[in-house]
Amino acid sequence: MFVLDHRCITKDENIYYSCDWIEHGLVFFPSKIALCCFTGEGEKSHTLIQDNFNGNNFNIDRINIIRNKFRYFHKKGKIHTNCINCPNLKLEAWDERNYIDCLYLSHWINCNSKCIYCYSINHPESFSNNSYKVLGIIKKLLNDGVLKRNSKILFGGGEPALLDEFDDLISFFIDNGFLDIRVHSSGIKYISSLEKGLKEGKIHLTISVDSGSSEVYQRIKNIPCYEMVIENIKRYSSNKMINGESNVSAKYIIIPSINDSKDEIEKWIMANKEANLSFTILDLEENWFLKNKNKIPEKIYDLLKYAKMRSEELGTHFELYERIKRLLD
Ligand code: SF4
Ligand code: SF4
Repeated sequence: MFVLDHRCITKDENIYYSCDWIEHGLVFFPSKIALCCFTGEGEKSHTLIQDNFNGNNFNIDRINIIRNKFRYFHKKGKIHTNCINCPNLKLEAWDERNYIDCLYLSHWINCNSKCIYCYSINHPESFSNNSYKVLGIIKKLLNDGVLKRNSKILFGGGEPALLDEFDDLISFFIDNGFLDIRVHSSGIKYISSLEKGLKEGKIHLTISVDSGSSEVYQRIKNIPCYEMVIENIKRYSSNKMINGESNVSAKYIIIPSINDSKDEIEKWIMANKEANLSFTILDLEENWFLKNKNKIPEKIYDLLKYAKMRSEELGTHFELYERIKRLLD
């Protein structure tokens, strides 16, 4: 549904509020495809392109019709209810040609972790466990010139180590000149097919740790694998790029009242240093953030600042997840 947002009315229809995903994004989810992976404030659902998707009913024309519909309404200041207040919405003269350069693969849910904040744990009814194959679709999109080689390719999921097609997909992207491939993993099972892309700087791997100790890890992940994950992080980070850095991050999602202490953050940062990681990345637990984004406690700001300061002292690139970036502006 599109609703008039007076803030988004512009004088020139060629310059309008949109985002990279509306213009050129595509996301594969279990049994559906969408324009982006964010659940908006309005309908609290995805910007849906097609429900009941099974891998065999892909239709690029349908996607383009929906993209054009978004453009048509957004030019008039009528914003999709999912997109209202989204930080990715920006005013630009967009390239309105229909191609894809942001591809997010998240069409399976099998995982070897059981994070307390995982959407699939709280909403098992939303998912079907039958994942479909995407490699054939992706090959055709590339051959047809729809998928650009300069695309950002993101793997969400589910755990990639448990996706049957994962090694083939990674080989395909690397062999076909894709340079910006982001993989999220629990880190519990080592994936050797990532090594080549890590060394060549084509893959950035983010491992979800959320803790600096096995006790806190167990509370969050419900699985006793902290030591194994740390060993795997070290092994991944030994695949260094030509500049000597490793393209691996250990991610920490702050979950208030569970891992929101300086002590735990310090242990996580020191473990990252010991593993020779070049990146640290922080986020706030999504449900908590959505409820509290207008009244974030001082303690959380302090933690973010502390992590940033320590990260800089130790020489690791510090990042916040997109939606909380503004908290340290
Ligand atoms: S504006 Fe936000 S919610 Fe809307 S398509 Fe873009 S990223 Fe998704
Ligand atoms: S690692 Fe990701 S997919 Fe797996 S349980 Fe945790 S949040 Fe869910």
